[in-house]
Amino acid sequence: MVIPIIPEMEPRPEALQGRETTMLEPLPTPERALVVFAHPDDAEFGCAGTVARWAREGTHIVYVLATSGDKGTGDRTLTPERLAHIREEEQAEAARVLGVREVVFLRYPDGGLEDTAEFRGKVVREIRRVRPDVVLTSEPFPRRRFSHRDHRIAGLVAMDACFPYCRDHLYYPEHLREGLETHKVGAVLFWGADEPDVFSDITDTLEVKLKALACHKSQFSDFNRVAERVKEWAKLNGQQAEVPFAEAFRKIEFWR
Ligand SMILES: [Zn+2]
Repeated sequence: MVIPIIPEMEPRPEALQGRETTMLEPLPTPERALVVFAHPDDAEFGCAGTVARWAREGTHIVYVLATSGDKGTGDRTLTPERLAHIREEEQAEAARVLGVREVVFLRYPDGGLEDTAEFRGKVVREIRRVRPDVVLTSEPFPRRRFSHRDHRIAGLVAMDACFPYCRDHLYYPEHLREGLETHKVGAVLFWGADEPDVFSDITDTLEVKLKALACHKSQFSDFNRVAERVKEWAKLNGQQAEVPFAEAFRKIEFWR
């Protein structure tokens, strides 16, 4: 049974509408990328068009999923354990559709994500293992609209993990003893930002993004409606980039 819920899509069109548009800068394709996110489907909403395009272009992409979305249902017959299992399967399928190499499940409780040394350490470990040029995650500081607490915390922890924790050897020294070296991430890209400054052309991968989103069957009673909304946002982003469809991000860069 599929129970309708309001997907936590956190759109940004109201942030875009009425904004004097400055053209967004195009994003280069990295060699390696890590995506850190709170719930199954967050990455598909936020960056799947970009992930699909980069995967086609040869980027090695790894997903780090903080919770398994064990609260995300209106179906009172489902246990959190059963739901987590269903949603992990859906996430793994979406990742396969996109060409993501691996999904790392951290299995923190949905709605219970906290900015802890332990969670940060797990993200640092994945960064030191995967060695991404770019980390993609959710905006930790939205100003003009609501956001899920887990999204803010996932974004914050991912950002902090990139700088300075994964870079400096005295943070989480046990990783070095295990053979994982320190790493300098080049940039963090936040989806869901009020004022994005870079874009990724997803004109050729919008359909794959929708196909990956559709894998999250437990979340949508009317996927066509969701797909229309997602297309609409991609079109709005595209207007700022002079392409038909785009994803947009706020970018912070680090010295390397
Ligand atoms: Zn979410």
